[in-house]
Order: sequence, then C-alpha cells, then structure tokens
Amino acid sequence: QAKALGRGRAVFYSERLTQELSQKIAMDTELRRALEQEELLLYYQPQIDAVSQELVGVEALIRWKKQSGVMVSPAAFIPLAEETGLIVPIGRWVILNACRQAKQWKDAGVPLFHMSVNVSFRQISEPNFVCSVADILEETGLPPEELVLEITEGTAIQDEQETLQKLLALKQMGVRISMDDFGTGYSSLGYLKLFQVEFLKIAQTFIYEVSADPDKASIVKAILAMARSLKLTVIAEGVETEEQYRFLIEHGCDWIQGYYFHKPLSAEDMGRLFAEQAVIDSGHAR
Ligand code: C2E
Ligand code: MG
Ligand code: MG
Ligand code: MG
Repeated sequence: QAKALGRGRAVFYSERLTQELSQKIAMDTELRRALEQEELLLYYQPQIDAVSQELVGVEALIRWKKQSGVMVSPAAFIPLAEETGLIVPIGRWVILNACRQAKQWKDAGVPLFHMSVNVSFRQISEPNFVCSVADILEETGLPPEELVLEITEGTAIQDEQETLQKLLALKQMGVRISMDDFGTGYSSLGYLKLFQVEFLKIAQTFIYEVSADPDKASIVKAILAMARSLKLTVIAEGVETEEQYRFLIEHGCDWIQGYYFHKPLSAEDMGRLFAEQAVIDSGHAR
C-alpha cells in the first residue's frame, strides 16, 4: 500500500512540475515576443543628495507593458529571464536604452548625473559583456563615468575570477560599480573589497523598519560607518517616510532613493521633473 501511495505522490509531483514547466515555457515565449515587439520600457527613479536634496541620478527600472495595458513588474519576469538566458538580450536592451536616454537628457542641458542600470550575473558571464557595454557607450556617446552598473550579491557568483576581471575592465573604462541590496546576500564585505565598488545601496528591508526596530537601526548605522571608512557613496533605498529620511541624514547617508521623494517615473515625467528643477535652479541663481 505504501508503494501505491508513493507512486501516487510521484505522479502528483510530476504533474505539478510539468504544469510549472509549461507555464515557464509560455511566459518565456511571451517575453521573447515582448522584447521583439517593444513591449518593454524603462522607468526612472530619481536619486537625491540627502543634504542638498538635489537630483544626482536616476535608476533605470524595467517594466513590461502588455498589449492589454497590464504592467508586469520585473520581479515577475527577471528571475525567469535569468533562468532561460533571455536576460542577455533583455539586459543589453536595457543598457542601450538607458544610455540613449541619459545622453538625450544630457544634450537637453541636464547637468552631470548618474544613470544606474541593474545587471544580473548571468548577463556579466556572457562572453561579450564588456565589449557590448563599450559598444553601447561609443554608439550613444554617453561618458562612461555617467554609467553605473548595479550588481546584486543575492546570488552566489559562479566564476568569481572571470566576473572580477570583467568588472575591473569596465572600471578601467570609467564605468562605476554599485553594490545593490547590500546586507541581504552572500559575503557582503568580501565582495565590496574584491569588486572595488564605489556605490553601496542599503537594502530596503533595513530602511523599512529603521525607526521601529533598534536592531535594524544598528545595522544601518554600522553600514554607514563602514562605508564612510571605505570612502563609498551610500544610497538608501526604499525611503518612504520623513522619519527614515531624518535618521539617514543624521547618520551621514549620502543619497536617498524612495517614494518619500519620488516613485519611478516614465521617461516623459522624468523629463518634466528635470525641466521643473532647471526652472527652480535658475530662479535661485539669478
Ligand atoms: P532594485 O534594483 O533593488 O530596485 C529597487 C526596487 O524598489 C524597484 O522595484 C523600485 O520601484 C522599488 N522602490 C523604490 N523606492 C521604493 C519605496 O520607497 N518603497 C517601496 N516599497 N519600493 C520602492 P522594481 O522596479 O519592481 O524592481 C524590482 C527589482 O527588479 C529591482 O530591484 C532589480 O533587482 C530588478 N530589476 C529591475 N529592472 C531591472 C533590469 O533592467 N535588469 C535586471 N537585471 N534587473 C532589474
Ligand atoms: Mg537596483
Ligand atoms: Mg535594491
Ligand atoms: Mg534587487
């Protein structure tokens, strides 16, 4: 009887796996089509200098707008794209379009700022990664110093040496490296040193409870102190309240990103914000 039960379970599991697999295949097909038919687009979330409250940069965040008008969040399709390898062409598309947009804003008179782009390790491991970034910079004319690549320590790195060589080559070109979601992944401190990152982003989970949970507050204070001694620029992510903002300023956080200042904006709305800011700036200057 146990045997029969076991077999029944195996059938049940394998049915579920088959179902999961066919869902993945369907989504992969849909996503490939989305890339070809330009259903993917970028939103931009402003990054603010904590003290002066000036705009210092934006982070490009991918969105999938289906023909039905439904917006799909990256959390719902990036992991699958990483699994199937589709992240490579998608990632290239993101870097190209983010750099193009940054150059366009620059040409329109937006002063020096940073365009941050998320890259997956799966994308970096692709043999042409460094060349493709170099090509995009040349093609768009964006100065390499204005491009920041955000890497996440969320996944253990497969080939550390190879990744390291590539990140160093990019650094030599002038591109900057940022450690995303700091504090949530593997061997955080080791990677910071190894990859010679310039920017460190404190993960939202710590910021979220910074005023309510003394342990989280201590962690954030420790990260800020460590970053200061390593001369890194620290960006707090997911800042939603005045209280969080006050706490971060008080402990020397450099830049702020979060709904408290701005949600991710469409390119159009971002352009409008730049225009408003220019009016305010010149209003003060003259
Ligand atoms: P991330 O890089 O850590 O991006 C920050 C996420 O936090 C974004 O979610 C942003 O919309 C959200 N966020 C920002 N401020 C606040 C806030 O004050 N409160 C709350 N609750 N959320 C806030 P989003 O756009 O859904 O992106 C999710 C993740 O997907 C990103 O996390 C990133 O890891 C990944 N991702 C997005 N675009 C790309 C891309 O082009 N390539 C790759 N490889 N990954 C991407
Ligand atoms: Mg990011
Ligand atoms: Mg993050
Ligand atoms: Mg992330």
